[in-house]
Amino acid sequence: MTEPLVAIRSFNFTDCLGRNHEVTAYKSAVDPLGEAARRFLSFFAPPGADGYALQRQANREKSERELRDAMLTLEPPRDVSISRATREELQRTAADWAMDGRECGGFLFGSIRPDAFRQRIAVDILEFSRPRTDDHREPGRIRFSAEHFEDAFEGRLSQNRLLGDWHVHLSADSFQPSDTDAGVWSARSDRVSWRPERPAGYLGVILAGNRPNHVSRRMKLSAWFVEPLQYRSLRSENGHLLGRVSTDSEPRPIAIREVG
Ligand SMILES: [Zn+2]
Repeated sequence: MTEPLVAIRSFNFTDCLGRNHEVTAYKSAVDPLGEAARRFLSFFAPPGADGYALQRQANREKSERELRDAMLTLEPPRDVSISRATREELQRTAADWAMDGRECGGFLFGSIRPDAFRQRIAVDILEFSRPRTDDHREPGRIRFSAEHFEDAFEGRLSQNRLLGDWHVHLSADSFQPSDTDAGVWSARSDRVSWRPERPAGYLGVILAGNRPNHVSRRMKLSAWFVEPLQYRSLRSENGHLLGRVSTDSEPRPIAIREVG
């Protein structure tokens, strides 16, 4: 007995006796020797293919596509969610490293999706990368090593999406992003936003104590969102493109919502 073929496209056709047939993607299975299969072979999966697996795959691709399209019109996030366990682990990691009096940091990974009202981007932090010994760490600044940076941006550190980065502030005025923070976040947002599989924007998280140089496992988190650089073309009077200038976008504070 020959296995039926599973349709991967919906279509209608009239057979040689003048009867109309309706074939539904992932639902209709037809005789491989019958008229539908002979005439519309490319509308069916190969023999033995798992129709449900094909449907799941098609649904996954559809939702990725919808997410990408939606991201173009959704408003930036107003908050970011993190589980209590992840937040506590981040605080522990930050405190353990910053105990030596130098700032430290890492990258943030998670997911983005349209919020319940399909108006804004909803962001969930699920994972973070730990500081590395080759990061350039000082009492007043942290610069990721080129390897740490590339590993994060090339997707080698997590299965989840790169959302942004976190770092500790040890100096006074501690929760405010420095000019350097604003600059690098803005530059990094530019790099992620040109890749459709990554978020249009960048998340910065700062951990700091209540007073300068106060390192503890209860350092508080603040979150900032940066939109991608805006480019403006510079043209001469006769319309020739002279170049493009970028306008830095300022980090905007957003709320941190604890879930679970
Ligand atoms: Zn900073």
